[in-house]
Parts: sequence; C-alpha cells; structure tokens
Amino acid sequence: MSEIYLQIANIQFIANFFDVFILFIIISSLYVLKSLFDLIDFKINKYHYDKIIRREKAVRVKQKRKNELVECLKCKYTCRPEWKKCPICDTKL
Ligand SMILES: [Zn+2]
Repeated sequence: MSEIYLQIANIQFIANFFDVFILFIIISSLYVLKSLFDLIDFKINKYHYDKIIRREKAVRVKQKRKNELVECLKCKYTCRPEWKKCPICDTKL
C-alpha cells in the first residue's frame, strides 16, 4: 500500500490511500452539508432574498432606461430622456 508522508512543523502524518479517501469523503460531505444549509437558509429567508433580487432588478431597469436615447420627432436628433426639450429645435420631448 502506498503511503503519503505529510510533515507540518514537528508533526508528521503518515497517511495511506484509505486515509486520503476518508479525508476526501469528509471534506466533500462538508461541502454537501453547506449547500444543504444554504438551500434551507434560502427557503426560510426567501422573502428577504426576493426583496433584494427585486430591488436589483429595479435598479437595472432604471439604469437601462437612463441609457436609452430618445429621438426628437422634428429633427431626429438623439436626445437623453432627462432632457425636457430638444437642444437643436426646442421641441418638447
Ligand atoms: Zn429636435
């Protein structure tokens, strides 16, 4: 059986293949547990998370609307939506 020697400071571990396998199982099961807890946490606090997601979506929509340009009906000049009048021909947007 192949053995792995690990030395940390004065402490030496001798681990064979089986120990490494067990360590792997323990670590991966911890990850599985963590994801399960995250899922439970999400289910419990779904309302809270939904609120955050909704707020982020609203911000994104607002930013998108801000970046959209409006075309002037009269001279076809592209204006920003926050402008009330076209800077070229003074028509209301
Ligand atoms: Zn115009």
